[in-house]
Amino acid sequence: MPRRVVDVLVPVALDREYSYRVPEKLDLAPGDIVSVPLGAREATAVVWADNPKPNPRLDNRLKDVEDKLDAPPLKGELRRFVDWVASYTLSSRGMVLRMCLRMGEHLGAARERVGVRLAGPAPQRMTGARSRLLELLADGMARGKSEAAREAGVTAGVIDGLIDEGTLETVVLPPEPVAHRPDADFKQADFTAAQSTAAAALKATIAKAGYTVTLLDGVTGSGKTEVYFEAVADTIRAGRQSLILMPEIALTAQFLDRFAARFGTRPAEWHSELSPRRRARTWRAVADGEVAVVVGARSALFLPYADLGLIVVDEEHDPAYKQEDGVRYHARDMAVVRGHIARIAVVLASATPSLETEVNARRGRYARIALPERFGGARLPAIEAIDLRRDPPPPRHFISPVLAGAVKTSLQRNEQALLFLNRRGYAPLTLCRACGFRFACPNCDAWLVDHRFRRQLVCHHCGFAMPHPANCPHCQVANSFVAIGPGVERLEEEVRELFPGARVLVLSSDLVASVERMREELADVAAGRFDIVIGTQLVAKGHHFPMLNLVGVVDADLGLANGDPRAAERTFQLLHQVVGRAGREAGAGYGYLQTHQPEHPVLRALIAQDRDAFYDAEIAQRESTHYPPFGRLASLVVSGPDKHAAESFARALVRAAPKVAGAIADALRILGPAEAPLALVRGRHRLRLLVKAPRAFDLSAYLRQWLAAGPNPKGGVKLEIDVDPQSFL
Ligand code: ADP
Ligand code: ZN
Repeated sequence: MPRRVVDVLVPVALDREYSYRVPEKLDLAPGDIVSVPLGAREATAVVWADNPKPNPRLDNRLKDVEDKLDAPPLKGELRRFVDWVASYTLSSRGMVLRMCLRMGEHLGAARERVGVRLAGPAPQRMTGARSRLLELLADGMARGKSEAAREAGVTAGVIDGLIDEGTLETVVLPPEPVAHRPDADFKQADFTAAQSTAAAALKATIAKAGYTVTLLDGVTGSGKTEVYFEAVADTIRAGRQSLILMPEIALTAQFLDRFAARFGTRPAEWHSELSPRRRARTWRAVADGEVAVVVGARSALFLPYADLGLIVVDEEHDPAYKQEDGVRYHARDMAVVRGHIARIAVVLASATPSLETEVNARRGRYARIALPERFGGARLPAIEAIDLRRDPPPPRHFISPVLAGAVKTSLQRNEQALLFLNRRGYAPLTLCRACGFRFACPNCDAWLVDHRFRRQLVCHHCGFAMPHPANCPHCQVANSFVAIGPGVERLEEEVRELFPGARVLVLSSDLVASVERMREELADVAAGRFDIVIGTQLVAKGHHFPMLNLVGVVDADLGLANGDPRAAERTFQLLHQVVGRAGREAGAGYGYLQTHQPEHPVLRALIAQDRDAFYDAEIAQRESTHYPPFGRLASLVVSGPDKHAAESFARALVRAAPKVAGAIADALRILGPAEAPLALVRGRHRLRLLVKAPRAFDLSAYLRQWLAAGPNPKGGVKLEIDVDPQSFL
């Protein structure tokens, strides 16, 4: 009698399942996490399906499942999600599964903690430290050793001494939970009428049960977070889990505190900076249903929730939701997919929705709940353009006199000012005054960015870095370098020269050592410890700085120049968000946009505060050109160490494109291959193909058919596919 066979999916870059025999002692069902022999090693894998008709001739060659791991099985909902994401993004299913199994190596029990408690008479000799410790432990409760030391302000040696004397004893404590249970009724905010209406509408939608998508469309500072917390509260009451996705989890200390103020405790966190142990424990607690709310970066979407009931995507328009390597997926779109598969509510929150979401809301596919006013009577900032053609800054400076005057006024009022420039480093280009030589990356088609703080010239694409040389490598003239254009570090120099004595902070991802440090700096800004903040896009996202009333955008044209079809949308969102940091509490907010093209539609819409006009125009434009969301796009990037090999592969690929018939033949466009705007990265030559298809067309299926028929890359040539691309570089 042949033994039972199951097909398992292994979390490696493979698309298909592998069959294994099930030993008698194991009782396996789809979703079970198992270990299986894979080549010479052992791998963790997931039972995907029973195999009722294994090929009998293979039976002897099949290996046995090694063991079943002690972890809850992956639910059918998550397995279907894995299959769906893999199919849509053209990734291997194994790689998508891998994102679900990021629980670290050890799924075993968590390490126990050592605790202490009162056990015997007071010691002979009393000291201040000893009495503080005994006072803390007087209630007879056990406490973790290190917590007790910290709370009483004593060293571990003091505790050990009292254990030796028999005053204290050690006990084994269960591990601290990953998160405590949030209390849905801990402290609800006093809502304004508009917030109450919005919260009631949201709760009603969620109470309907099943799949729904709601756009929570509120101006910056309207209290969207407080409103969607009510949906979270109802989900907690229903005993189900909530996931809150954030574009930049490293920056959410403020969010965690607000969550704690509402629910009495912080939520569980999920992001790349968790320690391996914490990651393993969080994964397990999510799978066991012990964690009620997870706040996480996009990867939290792939966790094995025991009973997911709600997904919130905060700042849903944020480009950081797109993963640009490995499995290329958009976490907002995939959140909607997971919500659909799991039949639960999805809430998308933004003051500047993505065009996709806006169109879905206009067409009634998504519900829209609006919060048109700021909380607490705060008004939206007034926005003005500074025409750099008329009011230019002095030579080699970047702050125009108008903006400088506004900052000065802000300082006089003891308010905060933010100068926004989305460029890290000191200067984007360095050249030799004597011969015109420019420092370029040896591996990429890019200039080296001067980072004075690090004392290096750095490539932002591959990380190549070199010290500033003393002489020009081309003409050997000494001290001949000039910096061209500004980065935040250079702006700092100018600000210190203009406003001596002001407390200045530069916030840029490359200047902080850790997430913790970044959180501290942001808290310092919120607490008013700085007068002028200079920041990259990191400061544009969701922060609430009560004393910040002036935002100056140093180069509003920066994002408009490139040929990206989303340039207008992105610039509108980014500038609207960053200016939206101003005037959120007391006083009036002002936004200044330094620009060479104040008549540009994006700038005009920002200044007129006419969001709808911008969306109307942009939607009409996308519709007439069949760009998303009115059509589909996929980009195919061919790269290789040898330019000709890459080119000939790309041309062969185009020739292999499957022919389509009928009306679709006119609508399906394959553009390229063309040299990519970033033609060389890390020593690889890059070519791009863009496929444009009608909305109703199954582009993923077409691409799969194409790849199956297409040439095999060789000689180091690589083909990367990006469905719904966000980057066009
Ligand atoms: P948004 O996300 O819409 O930009 P937030 O949710 O950050 O706005 O709210 C802006 C500020 O107003 C936050 O500091 C928030 O705590 C506060 N706030 C909003 N609604 C209330 C309320 N009903 N009671 C007290 N504070 C509120
Ligand atoms: Zn480089």
